[in-house]
Amino acid sequence: MRCPFCRGAESRVLDSRTADDGLAIRRRRECQGCGKRFTTSEMAILSVVKRSGASEPFSRAKVISGVRKACQGRPVSDDDLALLAERVEDAVRASGASEVPAQEVGVAILGPLRDLDEVAYLRFASVYRSFETLEDFESEIALLRSEADIARLRAEDDLDTPPVHSASSEPTLPTTT
Ligand SMILES: [Zn+2]
Repeated sequence: MRCPFCRGAESRVLDSRTADDGLAIRRRRECQGCGKRFTTSEMAILSVVKRSGASEPFSRAKVISGVRKACQGRPVSDDDLALLAERVEDAVRASGASEVPAQEVGVAILGPLRDLDEVAYLRFASVYRSFETLEDFESEIALLRSEADIARLRAEDDLDTPPVHSASSEPTLPTTT
């Protein structure tokens, strides 16, 4: 790594520490040529490969800008979006590959976005999975509805059994053992 001041090639490491929750290592260096100090950061590269074949580093900001439009007018805060981007990054990193297709990043967005806001999810999915007909929307909505129904029925089942908690608390799913 060349010195940013004199472009000298030799530097001495003064200090090394992890940063960004262990995702990066920062090194404080001193140039052997001019004596000035600078910092380098080392991070495992997670590349996103676009359909064109070009690749770029994974970016949470890109994930957020990708879903922001779908969230317009919806009760979704910047904190919600930051958390969503974090979940997406975790999912993508968990795949264990250092290069992931952009398509896979999109798929990783769908789940967390659906948990966040169903309307935003439908908007995003319609573009992302290129819904072409009303039927595409209908089947996706039917799926969301049936899952919501199952959750509601489970909650109602719960109410038939003697309540162990106050009626105002959140319905809980029956535990399966
Ligand atoms: Zn230098």
